[in-house]
Amino acid sequence: MMSGFSRSWTVGLLATAALLTTTACGSGTADTSAGSEGGKPEVIAAFYPLQWLSEQIGGSDTQVSVLTAPGVEPHDLELGIQQVTQLKNAALTVYIKGIQPAVDDAVDPETSFDAATAVQTIPAGEHEEEHAGEEHDHEVAYDPHIWLDPARLATVATKLGERLATADPAHAQGYKDRAAKTAATLGTLDQEFSKGLGACRTKTMVTAHEAFGYLADRYGLKQVGITLDPETEPSPTRLSEVGKLAKAEGVTTIFTESLVSPKVAEVLASQVGAKTAVLDPLESKPSGDFVSAMRDNLKTLQTALGCTS
Ligand SMILES: [Zn+2]
Repeated sequence: MMSGFSRSWTVGLLATAALLTTTACGSGTADTSAGSEGGKPEVIAAFYPLQWLSEQIGGSDTQVSVLTAPGVEPHDLELGIQQVTQLKNAALTVYIKGIQPAVDDAVDPETSFDAATAVQTIPAGEHEEEHAGEEHDHEVAYDPHIWLDPARLATVATKLGERLATADPAHAQGYKDRAAKTAATLGTLDQEFSKGLGACRTKTMVTAHEAFGYLADRYGLKQVGITLDPETEPSPTRLSEVGKLAKAEGVTTIFTESLVSPKVAEVLASQVGAKTAVLDPLESKPSGDFVSAMRDNLKTLQTALGCTS
């Protein structure tokens, strides 16, 4: 059994982001089904896609906050003592092992949900030679960017709904219903991607960092990431390797992302005579929501890869 939900939520670093996303739910008038005031289970999402998912499924039964502030690259996020305490007190922390080692270390297995355990993972990027000699205690063998495949994220939605239902049995049906609705939305998105990327001039996508492995896996594309994670500077060897590949595969667009400097991608693009376009790995909150940002990504991909449907 899970221990009771902590009500000793301390207002802290997390609160700013949390308030922005939860105040839309209403004026805080008494909800008789939720028990005492302020007794809503606190769900902490490690970064944006998990925040979106937790909000969709938690509905008004939970209070969701996000650990990685909007506009911040989540990879290798560092946690303050207060945030670690908040993680320990939360009813549930939703994270993906392998993205943020500090979060991996801080979570309590009893009160956390690792979304990577809900789906079949694919192996991590193959250009491991860049890491030779470095210490990577926390590196996982799989690619942790599971949210960029809508079909896998739909599976995560279902499992998260079940987990919340177990954690807060009084509202179990609500969690399950909203999880089903979210999974259906993601299923529709998956169909749009399948159809939209069905017939393209090239299948190769050159990305700023290897975030799109699951999207590539799902829709039969080939991802060539300039770097493995946003903090890594590509080696000259890697850059020339990617340049050659891009030329050979008729790549006309090199993808950049908003939270990573586009400089490297721009240099590469000019070397191979390509242009650049922004493809959002959704590691931070987009201007719309998860689904609308993914639809934007689909349009960008269709243009860049010369897809006809
Ligand atoms: Zn990433």
